[in-house]
Amino acid sequence: MKNLHNALLLKRLYQLKELGYQYTSEEPFNEDDKNLLELPNSLVALKQQALNCHLCSLSKNRNHVVFGEGNEQADVMFIGDAPLEIEDNASKVFLGRGGEMLTAMIEKVIGISRQEVYITNLLKCHPLANKAVHESEYHTCKAYLFKEIELVNPKIIVTLGEKAYHYLTNDTTELENIRGTIIVKDKHSIIPTYHPSFLLKNPSLKKDVFEDLKKVKGLL
Ligand code: SF4
Repeated sequence: MKNLHNALLLKRLYQLKELGYQYTSEEPFNEDDKNLLELPNSLVALKQQALNCHLCSLSKNRNHVVFGEGNEQADVMFIGDAPLEIEDNASKVFLGRGGEMLTAMIEKVIGISRQEVYITNLLKCHPLANKAVHESEYHTCKAYLFKEIELVNPKIIVTLGEKAYHYLTNDTTELENIRGTIIVKDKHSIIPTYHPSFLLKNPSLKKDVFEDLKKVKGLL
């Protein structure tokens, strides 16, 4: 909430600056204004808000906001890091070879269809390849992810890659030391594993992900 508040405050101040203000003694907004500080309570409205979001600098270079998709009452949610260029162009999560690998993992290892799960990312906008994502951008966008989790309320959350795990749990353990562990947090069982894009470069680790996803099947 604090990061969302700070991002909203910064946005308002930029808007006032563009209008020619050099100084204001007025509160840019009131913290009691629930409409500003609270995110909508439906995925449709949350997606709509994200589609118009300019709370961080990643909005400048995106083609589309890539919001989560899938079964809104899913038992299993997959969370990746950020949309790739191909996903930014199509406004859809997990496309290309990484997306195909994720679909195969869901169908062949867990034994359910991709349509039965919910898939999203920590960041909703594609970061430029040559520019590192600032921590504040992850923290700002995290508010959308946390609301998605609250609304879908999955039993199991599979984090794909280190970033999603770290920002979801605040645990900075290296992924190779924590992957496959079932962590119970706020009524969700979180299972960290490798990101499909990482597996494309390191195919020998597929067997580890296979073992991690068998735990998802066991929990279901
Ligand atoms: S990355 Fe997230 S916080 Fe930043 S502009 Fe996109 S939707 Fe908004």
